Amino acid sequence: MKNSERGKPGAAPAATGKDLLRILRKRERDMVKLLGKFVRCESPSFHKAAVDRFGRIVAQEWESRGANVRVLRQRELGNHVRAEIWLGERRPKKQILVLGHLDTVYPMGTHSVMPFRVSDGRAWGPGTFDMKGGLAIALFAIDAIKAAGIEPQKRFVFFWNADEEIGSKTSRHHIEREALRSDAALVLEPAAGRDGRLKTSRKGAGSAEIVITGRSAHAGNSPHLPGAGVNAVHELALQIARLIKMNDRRRGITVQATVAAGGTVSNVVPEHAHAKIDIRHSHLADAPKIDRALHALRPILPGTQLEVRGGVNRPPMERTHGVEKLFLHAKHIMHEMGLPLDEASVGGVSDGNFTAALGVPTLDGLGAVGDGAHSPREYVMLRSLPERAALLAGLLTTL
Ligand SMILES: [Zn+2]
Repeated sequence: MKNSERGKPGAAPAATGKDLLRILRKRERDMVKLLGKFVRCESPSFHKAAVDRFGRIVAQEWESRGANVRVLRQRELGNHVRAEIWLGERRPKKQILVLGHLDTVYPMGTHSVMPFRVSDGRAWGPGTFDMKGGLAIALFAIDAIKAAGIEPQKRFVFFWNADEEIGSKTSRHHIEREALRSDAALVLEPAAGRDGRLKTSRKGAGSAEIVITGRSAHAGNSPHLPGAGVNAVHELALQIARLIKMNDRRRGITVQATVAAGGTVSNVVPEHAHAKIDIRHSHLADAPKIDRALHALRPILPGTQLEVRGGVNRPPMERTHGVEKLFLHAKHIMHEMGLPLDEASVGGVSDGNFTAALGVPTLDGLGAVGDGAHSPREYVMLRSLPERAALLAGLLTTL
């Protein structure tokens, strides 16, 4: 695309991806410095005071860039931060939503054993990759747009929730409301793989629990006589065999017992058993079918009771035509910068699942490139910070 083809006539000529990348590469050290500041301020999902403290730091960064910042206060979990910014005189009608999260999976104190450090072209530490790198990328993307003198056609809403790692229960409705007002949703979750692929489809997910009650008895009693026990573990095994039949490779459905427990000691017929079930699906249309099958489970062994709780709770992010168009556009921007870009389909979920299910074109995995999310080996590639910021800036100014 030539400069003259971008934007509306009369608007400032848009910078190319190359210009944005040049500006951002000079700021790599500042990006790493800000990332260090973010990582040192730990923010575990369940530690409200800590997440709120981190949210204030992020909010200040946005305020200093002229954004309208609103803190959405929550009673028990951390507060969400909404930063809205536009760069022209008047507030544009159209909106692009950018999503990310403030919380991490690491408990308070992790930083003392896994401190932020930079070596070998990488930055290591809790939350560098998932996803404080993404939060830094967003701020520098705005800086670069300003430095390039671009006046984007749309306003941007950056929504940083505080409970993504624990299911986005208090933020989901805010995210969905913002998504419905937006032309696209860009999600700054970590990229897929060391080559930085974007995530253009994600499976949907759910979790369920099966609770079985039998009757305890001495294991030496004949199981056929009155007063004998009813084995809850055996019942659970039979139910799990049914669950296994629900797996459908062709439809991308997986149903797995991921935790199972029952019984007390080895010579007692177990009275209780339970299992936790992880559910994944590729197609929105399969969700009710899976839920129905799960809740239709009935006891098999006489004398047992069975209870099923939960079910599918997050829709899949399907690779719609809108998603594909968005991806090809991103690929074009990277191509202009002389960088390759590929896409991936992943099993994990993000808040992009919610926006995509509403029909809003969604691109995910736009955050930093690295590896080791949720582990002591978490890191980001330093080089990817300016590159991804340039990609985000390119998207924000051309969508
Ligand atoms: Zn994440």
